[in-house]
Order: sequence, then structure tokens, then C-alpha cells
Amino acid sequence: MRLQTKAIHIGRGVDPSTGAVSIPLHTSTTFERGADGAFPSGFEYTRDANPTRNAFEAAMAALEGGHQAIAFSSGMAAISAVIEGHPSRGRIVVPDDMYFGIRSLMDETDIGRRFDFVPVDMRDLDALHTAVTGADTGLVWIETPSNPLIRVVDIAAACQIANEAGALAVVDNTWATPVLQRPLEFGADAVMHSATKYIGGHSDLMAGVVVTPEGSPLERPLRMIQRHKGSVAAPFDCWLALRGLQTLPLRMEAHCEGARKVADALNAHRHVKQVLFPGLPDDPGHALATRQMSGYGAMLSFIVAGGAEAAMAVAGRLRLIVRATSLGGAHSLIEHRASVEGPKSMAPAGLLRVSVGLEHPQDIIDDLTQALDGLA
Ligand SMILES: *Cc1c(COP(=O)(O)O)cnc(C)c1O
Repeated sequence: MRLQTKAIHIGRGVDPSTGAVSIPLHTSTTFERGADGAFPSGFEYTRDANPTRNAFEAAMAALEGGHQAIAFSSGMAAISAVIEGHPSRGRIVVPDDMYFGIRSLMDETDIGRRFDFVPVDMRDLDALHTAVTGADTGLVWIETPSNPLIRVVDIAAACQIANEAGALAVVDNTWATPVLQRPLEFGADAVMHSATKYIGGHSDLMAGVVVTPEGSPLERPLRMIQRHKGSVAAPFDCWLALRGLQTLPLRMEAHCEGARKVADALNAHRHVKQVLFPGLPDDPGHALATRQMSGYGAMLSFIVAGGAEAAMAVAGRLRLIVRATSLGGAHSLIEHRASVEGPKSMAPAGLLRVSVGLEHPQDIIDDLTQALDGLA
């Protein structure tokens, strides 16, 4: 079965009790025992397992080519579970332009005190090698393309370096989705998603998921953290995510096409200093992205000439593109990352990050152009 078909069918047969084609939403928290005390359906209590959540997990495992998927209440809950559940606790090597939520986890919660985080620019494989070897690194956290600098990391090479040092390599695949990039095929030990983004696809659910290959040492710890620590994905969010998955391959195609056009238009504008997007032939990540992805995604950043003030002025003049955080939905969103992330941000002052949505690309371009034209 091909990916497009899996996205619609895996985990979801026609409901045998009613013939329903669309999967039922099971909100029940508890399930009846038989007279003999056993659970004839296999379900007991929703924190342990729920039919709608199981269906979402089965679909995600199939799309990533994994063995199991474990769904959490958010992407951050999934990340926290991987950090707490990886077998050798200690040093964790992370990207220096890591997703900002990980920095907050380090700075604002007990996780920062319990683990030793080592940031490194993973495009530099020698630097990664040095960071990983010679110390008891348990986990290498890979994000590609990265946020907000849209850097591309060589997944196969990074996983090999991690594994040779005895560490697990986990890839945050939120931005690429399994449609464009499948890290398990490049040797990753697990794949993580914020399903809040492209998988849901409509900015209306929050969930996270980790997919593990057969025999993964992460599988049991993650399942136990899900059950017993309890940050499980809600049945309704799983149901919405399953609905989103059906159109994920089609949406990604449209997202990618729109982003390429928007990147070209921005690149040609006189007030834009630089466009960060691996789909552009002269982007430093272009060749690598062409090798390990089947499309360049729809997240891009551009640097406005004139710094923070000019960037804020451009964002302020937009009429269609929404000034809001997050990404991966039908609405195009824009954000000035330096002001969101604060003094530790690696985002240049003039950088605006765009999640190119599913509006007509020319309308997105027209909006950006009128906003940029307003600069002196
Ligand atoms: C949004 C996001 C997360 C966190 O997911 P939540 O669902 O917001 O908790 C993690 N990684 C990346 C790359 C993201 O974009």
C-alpha cells in the first residue's frame, strides 16, 4: 500500500457494528468487564488504551514505517517522554537552534536540572562527532529542517555518529511530516511529531506522537510514561488528527508548491536581504534536502533589510497572513521569532518566519509584497 492510501485506511476499517465509514469517536473513559471478569474488547480504561487513540497510533506507525506509535497530549509531552524515557540518562546533544520549547524545558523545568544538554550546530558533522563521543551521551536530538533558521541536517550521518557513540538518535519530523521525510529509513531510533501542526493541519487540535521501530529500547518506557504519567492524547484530538491525516499527502503537495512560489517572490523583493528556504537552489541546505526529502516543505524565513523595526512594520501591515505562532495549518501565519524567543534566540533581528498556508499562493505573495513595498 502506498503512503496516500495508508493515510486514509490504516487503523480504520469500516466499523463492524454499524457499517460507519468514518471512524467513530470513542469518548468513553471506561469499558465493561465480562461476567468472568475479563475485558472482551481488550479495552479497560482510556488512559491505558482507547480505540480512537489506538487507531491514530496505528496510522502514524504505518506512515513513518515504524512498529509502534505512542500518542501524547502535545508535542512537548512527547519530547519530555523521550527525554525521561531514554535508557541511559545523562548527556543529551541538541541542535543549537533547537525548537524553542526545548530551551524552555531546559530553562524552566526540572528536566534542565536532571539532564546535561549540549547544543551543537549539527550541519557540522565534525562538531557533532566531538560533542557526542568521549562522554556518556545517551540521546542525540535532531531537527531538520530547523526552526527558525531552516537549516538542513544530514539524518543518516547524524544517526550513524550517534549510534557509533552508543547514543540513540531521535528526529523531530514535525516540519517535514512522513510525506516528505521518513527518518526511520535513515537509521533514526525514533521519530517525534507535534501533531498540532501539519498532521492535524487545521490549527484546531493539540497532540504529540513518537514512532519507534521494532525492538526499540524506547518502546516500553514511552508506553509506561504515557499510561502512568498520564499525558495521553485525548480521543477527540486523535479523531481530528485521523481526519487530518487523510488529506496530509494532498495538503503537503499544495503547501510545498505555495512555499516555493512565495520564496521566489520574496527572493526577488528589494527590501528582502535573504530568504532561508531549502527549496531555493542556492540555499546551503538545498542539495541535502533534495537527497533526504521528497519536497522542501512550507516553512520559510526571510530577513528584512532594516532589522527588527522594519520586520515588525512589515508584519504589522499584513492583511491576509495572520500574525500568530504555530504552523502547519490552512491559514498562513507569520511571526517575528526574535521577539518571541527573547535574548537567547538565534534568530536575526530582521527575521520573519512564515508558515505558508493553503490560500492561493498569489494572494499570499500580494499580501507580502504590499507590506514590503510600504518600507521606505
Ligand atoms: C510545535 C512544535 C513542537 C511542540 O509541539 P506542541 O504540540 O506545541 O507541544 C515541537 N517541535 C516542533 C518542531 C514544533 O514545531
